[in-house]
Amino acid sequence: MLYRQRTLDLPHGDVETPILLPVRNVGKRSSDNTPEYVGTIPDLPTAMINARSIYQRAPMWERLQEGVTLREEMEVPEDTIVFADSGGLDFDPTGPDITPAEMLSIQRHLDADIYGTIDIPLSRENWVEENHRRVRQNIEYAIQTSEKHREDDASLLFASVHGYDPETVRNNIQHLEQRGDFDGYALGSLSLIRTDYKKTTRLILAARRATDKHLHVYGLGGITYLPLLLYLGVDSFDSSAFIRNAGNRNYLLPGFGGKELHNIDHLDYLPCPCPVCGTRTLDEIRVDRNLLVRHNLWSMVTELRRFRYIAASDKDVEAYLDLRFQDNEVTQRAYRAAKQQVRRLV
Ligand SMILES: [Zn+2]
Repeated sequence: MLYRQRTLDLPHGDVETPILLPVRNVGKRSSDNTPEYVGTIPDLPTAMINARSIYQRAPMWERLQEGVTLREEMEVPEDTIVFADSGGLDFDPTGPDITPAEMLSIQRHLDADIYGTIDIPLSRENWVEENHRRVRQNIEYAIQTSEKHREDDASLLFASVHGYDPETVRNNIQHLEQRGDFDGYALGSLSLIRTDYKKTTRLILAARRATDKHLHVYGLGGITYLPLLLYLGVDSFDSSAFIRNAGNRNYLLPGFGGKELHNIDHLDYLPCPCPVCGTRTLDEIRVDRNLLVRHNLWSMVTELRRFRYIAASDKDVEAYLDLRFQDNEVTQRAYRAAKQQVRRLV
């Protein structure tokens, strides 16, 4: 197995990896605000933010110019670890309306601990020529960002990498390794193929093999993928699954995926001892979306903690994962395929 633990030394503090970065919708015009979790979940002092949606939200961006800190704006402690990605999914695919240097200065102004380089995600339609162009463009953005990333800037710079096959991912990383100076790599466009576990696994493994540096995976940290990512040696990942699932009234439970709460009856208390569910009835949680979001986040943290426990206590991780994926034929096949590939590597 490729699971590994490291320490990231960041401007706002040290973080033990692997780590989940919950997606915060700060800056987005949305009533679905992310409920408070920093401070209530001790091993989650982290947040993923979208730099683009913040500078595009004029009132907030003005407050930040006037001296309000991003963390004040987010109502989190000043030592919260923040990863600011470029918000690539929202760019016009023909090209971003901002240069790599401008993006870097925004990420710096946000006082982020980790910057992700500007990227244009691949298109869902497998239009080879267009995706080929985007891959090359993303490399160019990353190199330009690296050239502007000052040596006295202690924040880490991760190159955003997109590839439609393992070879492209590997070549991209090796090319960037020679041409730029990056603290890690962030693999994107995987949410487009998330249901193709085998392909997703192969792309992640290609990235893992191409570098020993930090490997982040964008937008793929749902409760089913989470143990698979850890097994594949991914160091960090971000996810909005806890919010999206709550929006659909889905209750996440490690090993069981998501279950729609309206399909459950004849049950007074839920099967989770987290601070949200432990003392509340099913009916209370059913009607409160915020409670559901917070529970879903606890579920993901629980999965992460269990994996750490298995690894720390010399238990057999593969046996644990056999158990973890036995319920679902699709993920079971995916895990078996991943296991074969990983065993060839180690
Ligand atoms: Zn719970």
